[in-house]
Amino acid sequence: MKQIFACAAMVLFSLLGPLTSASGQTIDRRLRIQPIQVCSDDGTDCANTNRILFSAETTKIWAQAGVEIEMLPWEQFYGTPWLNLTTSIFDDYTIYGLAGSPGHGQNPDPTVINVWFVKSFNNGAFGHSLQTSPGIAQRNGVGIADNSFSYNNGIGRRDVLAHELGHNLGLDHTTLGAIGNTNLMVPGRQTPDSTQDIIPDGQQLDFLGDLQIAQARSTSFLIPLDARLQIQASNGCVVLSWEASGFTLESAVSSEGPWQNFPAQTSPQVVPCTNQCRLFRLKH
Ligand SMILES: [Zn+2]
Repeated sequence: MKQIFACAAMVLFSLLGPLTSASGQTIDRRLRIQPIQVCSDDGTDCANTNRILFSAETTKIWAQAGVEIEMLPWEQFYGTPWLNLTTSIFDDYTIYGLAGSPGHGQNPDPTVINVWFVKSFNNGAFGHSLQTSPGIAQRNGVGIADNSFSYNNGIGRRDVLAHELGHNLGLDHTTLGAIGNTNLMVPGRQTPDSTQDIIPDGQQLDFLGDLQIAQARSTSFLIPLDARLQIQASNGCVVLSWEASGFTLESAVSSEGPWQNFPAQTSPQVVPCTNQCRLFRLKH
């Protein structure tokens, strides 16, 4: 008699379950940011010398959309002409130029948003970014200038990164409810002096409406935090199921690997019985 030996185990890359933000929104997505410090060719002259990211502000603002912000380790890019950018798409040294071709310090993962810190934009803008539009390929690239840190007597334009990220996530200055002086996407908005006045606290600044949140969450830049791979017994075999999209089911016969894409990627699915112990994991 052939003995059926079913053995399955799972490895979750995302070990944390959903968290909850101060506004009560469940944090169930992660947005990863690649900071890139632009420097002169010889490395002696760099933008954002203090490597300010406004992490706390960006994190609090995007929490209202259920999004957690992860700042990846810094990269540097050396190129003197790129220290001072223009905002015309027809010029050579622009955020379009940095984002539009490889070799400028970008993260190889296309779901990571690249943020270049430069000294200035010719029109005095604090930031300039590519804009994702619904239905077209997602656009990835943010530029932040040094005047973002000197703004308001050195308090800084503390929501500038959160605003520019909004453009990559498909938000603009006038649609989807961008109106008034407290909405994150309105250029003339009141900016916070600290996290104390960011929604849901104090003056409730940097608000995002439901339509804006829905648009931002529809982009594939956001990674589900809770993959929840479930393995259940079924007639001596196993059924695999998971809820999150954007993950690849991988399998191996040993925890040391090699891990390979499993032939079937649908959820739920019955895994045929074999005599071999097999491990499964979801990977993004
Ligand atoms: Zn803008």
